[in-house]
Amino acid sequence: MICFFVFLCFYMFIPYLLSFWFGVGAFRKGNGESQVAFTFDDGPDPVYTAQLLDLLKKYGVKATFFVVGSKAKKYPKLILRMHKEGHLIGIHNYVHRSNWLMTPWSVVRNLRDSAAIVQNITGVRPSYYRPPWGLMNLFDFFLHKEFRIILWSVMAGDWRNKGTSLIIQNKLLKRIKPGDVVLLHDCGDTPGAHIDAPYYMLKALKEVLKELRQRNIQFVRLDEMIDKRPIKVLPKRSQHHRKR
Ligand SMILES: [Zn+2]
Repeated sequence: MICFFVFLCFYMFIPYLLSFWFGVGAFRKGNGESQVAFTFDDGPDPVYTAQLLDLLKKYGVKATFFVVGSKAKKYPKLILRMHKEGHLIGIHNYVHRSNWLMTPWSVVRNLRDSAAIVQNITGVRPSYYRPPWGLMNLFDFFLHKEFRIILWSVMAGDWRNKGTSLIIQNKLLKRIKPGDVVLLHDCGDTPGAHIDAPYYMLKALKEVLKELRQRNIQFVRLDEMIDKRPIKVLPKRSQHHRKR
């Protein structure tokens, strides 16, 4: 029992605390004075992703999509459209499953399979990765040679339709500050989400983009926001200890 608890701590809880609280191994927030990066998870979706792309085009916004590999395979035209319209495409696993419930080699296989699907469509291999629910396991720290892990600094509960667009809009406008990485969802079919939630997100986003433009906010892709400093890694001693 104690062994199991220790395993859970090292495999799940400590990586979670290190990445979310201390930014170890993951990027959460930029330091650009007027930049904000919008990111959209869980798609592509056959109904909402095209509407989102229309909205982003209308407001001249370049964003980042963390796509689910199996859905990218199913909807290649949407992936190609994202790419052609200048958005950055990252990976959000092959299916929307937590890394806490997968072995390290399964995570790597998921990522490489998904990256290959996107590369076959766009010609560009994705190198950014957001684990579902932001939950990293211990071995995800060692992915950094292939994939940069991205979390977020602002979210607004947009995966539930109970929020309604006005609540999402107010939360976003109150919380978004320069340098923020904003998490939103263009698909509502993942566990815990509501299928029509992106409808409300899109209504809110339209108003948010109008307002942020007035504040002279520059909308950037994550690769434009991330500075060139190396990511924080675990101290050598603990890496060595955990590899054994
Ligand atoms: Zn997700």
